[in-house]
Amino acid sequence: MAPTEPDTAVAATRRTPLSFELYPPRTDAAAIALGRTIDRLADVDPAFISVTFGAGGSSRDRSLTVLRYILENTTVEPMAHLTCVGSSHAEANELVRKFQDAGIRSFLALRGDPPAGSDPDAPLGDLASAAELVQLIHRVQQEREPFDQVAVEGNPGASRIRERTRKTEVAVAAFPTGHPQSRDLSRDVDILLAKQVAGANLAITQLFWEASDYLGFVERARAAGVTIPILPGIMPTTTSKRLARLTELTGVQPPASFAIALEVEPDPAAQTELGIAFAARLAAEVIAGGAPGLHLYTYNRHEAVLDVVERLGLGAPHQLANERNTAR
Ligand code: FAD
Repeated sequence: MAPTEPDTAVAATRRTPLSFELYPPRTDAAAIALGRTIDRLADVDPAFISVTFGAGGSSRDRSLTVLRYILENTTVEPMAHLTCVGSSHAEANELVRKFQDAGIRSFLALRGDPPAGSDPDAPLGDLASAAELVQLIHRVQQEREPFDQVAVEGNPGASRIRERTRKTEVAVAAFPTGHPQSRDLSRDVDILLAKQVAGANLAITQLFWEASDYLGFVERARAAGVTIPILPGIMPTTTSKRLARLTELTGVQPPASFAIALEVEPDPAAQTELGIAFAARLAAEVIAGGAPGLHLYTYNRHEAVLDVVERLGLGAPHQLANERNTAR
């Protein structure tokens, strides 16, 4: 049976919140290009832009530089990925504090992966799971700012303290097709529930290639008591080389029809079109199925993700920017 074309523009609405993921650049030239990419992504008014963190802290300063750029040059909330593999309690504490000192209030708490080739039974560090890092982030924030200062009405200059109302946002990872270490899919739901109990208020999924993988996972998570929003993570993949690399990194198998279509298409522009059309269709299907937003993996390029955004009817970037400017 021929697949039916979902009406992408109808499935998505202008209110569907967007978010994007970037990784820290490795060269000065890449950093300059990334600044331009961030500016273009900011034009579509995403709920947040997240920045990955090299396992073991290898990219700490570069991640922080990108997060500061977002904080200082856009109105978008920066979200810092943090990993805990290999950290002692004191190191993890200091790391969280350093990011909070820089003004970061949104985190994606991750366990991270031990270096390739390391002993799988070796201890991971003082914090063994993302759930423990979630708890640590909340604790450090609570220790830093347990109270808010509020003005006393009718008494100029006086202030009183009240318990802080602005909570730190802590997101976590979720795996619709199962974490590579997971024995079965129910285990992934249990782990997500444990992260929610630890204080996570948002989940972002690993990429997936079939809407039913995401929608089925959300259904099982809800049945198990997970109430936090679960954002679908989607990456427009426009070359077969990148698709092969992603499959190797994540272990998530793409549909053979898509992999073959990319492989046999000789024209790069037509390959790009295949990747964007596939991502837009997948996004439209999960939004139609109730996804609370859309998290797009950018690979540090704005073109493909903004094409997806536009195709979903979420607004051409320049139009949205103009509308916002005239509304001010
Ligand atoms: P956890 O939730 O701690 O769990 C991972 C697995 O460990 C579980 O599925 C389970 O098998 C096992 N496990 C956990 N808790 C227990 C327990 N109590 N008992 C028994 N087993 C348990 N990596 C980076 O290095 N940097 C990044 O910036 C980064 N960003 C990511 C962003 C997203 C959206 C996603 C989906 C992944 C990202 N990763 C990143 C990869 C991630 O670090 C790895 O997938 C890692 O293997 C798992 O991390 P986690 O936070 O899900 O770990």
